[in-house]
Amino acid sequence: MKYSIAIHGGAGTIPRNSMSLEKERSYRDALEAALYAGSSILEKGGSALDAVMHAVKSLEDCPLFNAGKGAVFTHEGNHELDAAIMCGKRFMAGAVASLEGIANPVLVARKVMDESQHVLLAGRGALDFAIEKGFKQEEPAYFYQELRYRQWQEALASDKVVMDHQGDEKKFGTVGAVARDREGNLAAATSTGGMTNKRYGRIGDSPLIGCGTYANNATCAVSATGHGEYFIRSVVAYDISCLMEYRGLSLQQAAELVVKDKLVKHGGEGGIIAIGRDDLPVLVFNSEGMYRGCLTEGGAIGTGIYLDEA
Ligand code: ASP
Repeated sequence: MKYSIAIHGGAGTIPRNSMSLEKERSYRDALEAALYAGSSILEKGGSALDAVMHAVKSLEDCPLFNAGKGAVFTHEGNHELDAAIMCGKRFMAGAVASLEGIANPVLVARKVMDESQHVLLAGRGALDFAIEKGFKQEEPAYFYQELRYRQWQEALASDKVVMDHQGDEKKFGTVGAVARDREGNLAAATSTGGMTNKRYGRIGDSPLIGCGTYANNATCAVSATGHGEYFIRSVVAYDISCLMEYRGLSLQQAAELVVKDKLVKHGGEGGIIAIGRDDLPVLVFNSEGMYRGCLTEGGAIGTGIYLDEA
């Protein structure tokens, strides 16, 4: 079976005229680097699980995205990170929420899955677990980005919980990956700083299994980005899987029904990337754009930002 991988770096309003050529190039380079981080593992016969983990790690290390190094500020001026990973083959999952000071939350989520008896660890418990497993706690300076600081100051002044924004651009900025390896196993991973100016302890959809992240070899692997509260209520990732399992919809049909119809009716903006057992990846969003990319064995690498790109 051909391997395949898709990634996202957040959905939102991304107008072409607010994007300089240089900025667009740096986003596309970062998306390509993340795709290669994952596909080089698949190319060597590695697992979908390792591929999504390394693709997400690459995006967490890039300050352009709202995850890991580039995470947005909370109301109190901290960075509370959420991440999840799920293995469709073993039907196992690991996640962390409100984790502070760790550069790569997706790696901790993987440890929760492989080396704990739990699925989701939050706050202090997640941090203690990470340190126990040998992760280094970074100084706040590691996560400091001038742009994020300004976004936070503006959000504080308006007292709103907002998306990652700059000029006319308003995006969610969460990162995620889904993959299928040559053995046909599926996996998904998602990582985020959440929403700018969020209340401390607020947890979004990304680390919640079935909401922002899900993988089941019988159906599909999904990673979401968007306004978390809506994605939680709509149980987005699991709903897509259910529509395939119980109603026999194709992955494309299920994703479009959930993202472009059900979510829209509830007012939820965002998108998903998904992969099934024998389809090409599906990338669906109801916002004006989504940072995204995909690569299937033997095919060309593709990245997209705006609505009108294939
Ligand atoms: N879904 C994320 C959250 O609500 C935000 C995002 O997609 O950027 O935490």
